[in-house]
Amino acid sequence: MTARELADTLQRDRRLDPEGYRRLITARDAGLLEHINSLAREAAQANYGNAVYVRGLVEVSNYCRNDCYYCGIRRSNRNVERYRLSQDEILECCRLGDSLGFRTFVLQGGEDATMNEAFVTGLVKAIRKEFPASAITLSLGEYSREAYQKFFDAGADRYLLRHETANREHYGKLHPASMSFDHRMDSLHALKEIGFQTGTGIMVGSPGQTDDNIVEDILFMEAFGPEMIGIGPYLPQCDTPFAGERAGSLEDTLMLISIFRLMFPPALIPSTTSLATLAPEGRERGILAGANVVMPNLSPPENRAKYALYDNKKAFGAEASEGLRELEAQMEKIGYRISYDRGDFVNGKWKMENGK
Ligand code: SAM
Repeated sequence: MTARELADTLQRDRRLDPEGYRRLITARDAGLLEHINSLAREAAQANYGNAVYVRGLVEVSNYCRNDCYYCGIRRSNRNVERYRLSQDEILECCRLGDSLGFRTFVLQGGEDATMNEAFVTGLVKAIRKEFPASAITLSLGEYSREAYQKFFDAGADRYLLRHETANREHYGKLHPASMSFDHRMDSLHALKEIGFQTGTGIMVGSPGQTDDNIVEDILFMEAFGPEMIGIGPYLPQCDTPFAGERAGSLEDTLMLISIFRLMFPPALIPSTTSLATLAPEGRERGILAGANVVMPNLSPPENRAKYALYDNKKAFGAEASEGLRELEAQMEKIGYRISYDRGDFVNGKWKMENGK
């Protein structure tokens, strides 16, 4: 079978054998990429039309107890000016987002000990009370199952927790020994069992990542069945141990977005800030590869530069809430429209349309 036929098979069956995935990710052929991107666009459009959902991203804190080797807000980085938003400040961001039409708020941050179970539960309750119709997504890292349950009961709908890598050895190259691969995986399973729309994903081209690792990531995702998939290139940050490592590639990222779209037609897949940072028109290319979500930054402008996960991170213009018109124009130019709906996962619809 040619690689092109493999892409067609993935579109039809939503699955390949491991060797098939491996051939797609190693082909690195422009014609194949164009073909699979167009199949992935069709799959996204069959489910969501030409809608691209916006989520308002609030970066709530850049304090972090973890020391991930790739991340600019890791504990050991002394060159970051730390900040943490209060509940009132976070609510103020949500109010601004609400006035702009956002119906999903994504709260993301480092693992900040101050943002403990009680704080997050109280925060979620306050947002839920003030914005009963909006979706609340958390991306705050690892907590206990009991804490996740409290967040869910308080009104959180979705949780983003990239698995980063499904390979234990590779996990050990990206993280210090104090961090646990098993705990990350257990956390993901707990989130799903509790009933969150759960998102996971990887950095493409993270240091030490092999093609085999990516196949393992794909197989993990196949078994896990995420509702949301966060795929973006790894980008170096100058104060981390990986400062001298190469960034992930645009083409590999676009190939993976398309593979995941074909595997999971109803998934919510962002065209990430890291993709927009990596390449001119990266955001648009992500949408044209099958992504259907964008997450403009709603954080107070004075804090954005401090949430520097990687160098030159985009946080203004079309990447920000105040640049929504620019974002709308970018999307219109490629035939898409911004949707201000909550944009929940709609597996049932896909199943009906496909008679499965
Ligand atoms: N602390 C939470 C967690 O671990 O899930 C959420 C915040 S964390 C900064 C969000 C994501 O940023 C991570 O899952 C990681 O994939 C991504 N990230 C961190 N450093 C990055 C880098 N240098 N390049 C690209 N993405 C990066």
